[in-house]
Amino acid sequence: MELLEGKLVSQKTKDELKLEVESLKKEGINPKLAVIMVGNDSASQIYVRNKNKACEYVGIEFEEYLLSEETKQEELLELIEKLNNKKEINGILLQSPIPRHLDINEAFRKISPEKDVDGFNPINVGKLVLGQDTFISCTPFGIIKILEDYNIEIEGKNAVVIGRSNIVGKPMSQCLLNKNATVTICHSKTKDLPSITKNADILVVAIGKPCFVTKDMVKPGAVVIDVGINRMEDGKLKGDVDFDGVKDKVSYITPVPGGVGPMTVAMLMTNVIKAAKNQNK
Ligand code: NDP
Repeated sequence: MELLEGKLVSQKTKDELKLEVESLKKEGINPKLAVIMVGNDSASQIYVRNKNKACEYVGIEFEEYLLSEETKQEELLELIEKLNNKKEINGILLQSPIPRHLDINEAFRKISPEKDVDGFNPINVGKLVLGQDTFISCTPFGIIKILEDYNIEIEGKNAVVIGRSNIVGKPMSQCLLNKNATVTICHSKTKDLPSITKNADILVVAIGKPCFVTKDMVKPGAVVIDVGINRMEDGKLKGDVDFDGVKDKVSYITPVPGGVGPMTVAMLMTNVIKAAKNQNK
């Protein structure tokens, strides 16, 4: 078994981007990301801090907009509109979750597709489905990048994705299809899940249940991508895959932490730089 070390691929990606930003700055292009956070979700605060740190490292300017828990939908939309119109802002990210009284889908629709570095605007999702150039949402984009970095072939492979969320499962399935895999999408209503997962050459698990995928569910020699981040009572993080049980049966597996998570941030940086370049063409 070989570990797919997202942490290392992420570092390499950020180092390359750092050089690219240095040369963009010489051309007068200063990539800048605006992050909007509504309320005080503690996990979100950590995610935003990590994004800020990555921006600092790569040389991307970072602007944070902290809105109160009581923010009204119109106020959120107004802020997005203001950022859409600010020429110096290249990327806009709305950190989820946002309070339940707000409509996140309307907010994602409001973010200009050219600045939608998370790839959640329906225009960009549509482009992904059509196989057109777009901003791919960062977690699936990062997973494709890890597979490519380790020269793992996708074309012609049986890929199974467990989970169909808009942020991970669906775009992941589409990315694998665009890379010519034969894709099966599973979810909570899927019958006899192990009979499907046992045929997976590439198995991506994004459900949010610790150690859900066990040894008897994976094909010998499979490539296993564990997207899950589950905080256990002892404070440790666990993935959706029973890593210790599965590791000797598979060819490659991502660890948690240090697998998919760091790639998500690196791909956000990639998308911000792409946005800056597109807007300065
Ligand atoms: P969601 O809760 O939005 O979606 C979970 C999906 O899993 C749903 O499609 C659900 O099916 C499916 N599911 C739940 N239980 C089962 C089951 N028993 N059998 C089969 N399918 C099941 O989660 P997210 O996609 O947002 O996140 C998934 C995990 O990935 C979480 O642990 C999250 O923390 C992590 N994550 C990690 C990221 C990273 O950077 N590493 C980024 C984003 C998320 P149904 O649709 O039928 O309800």
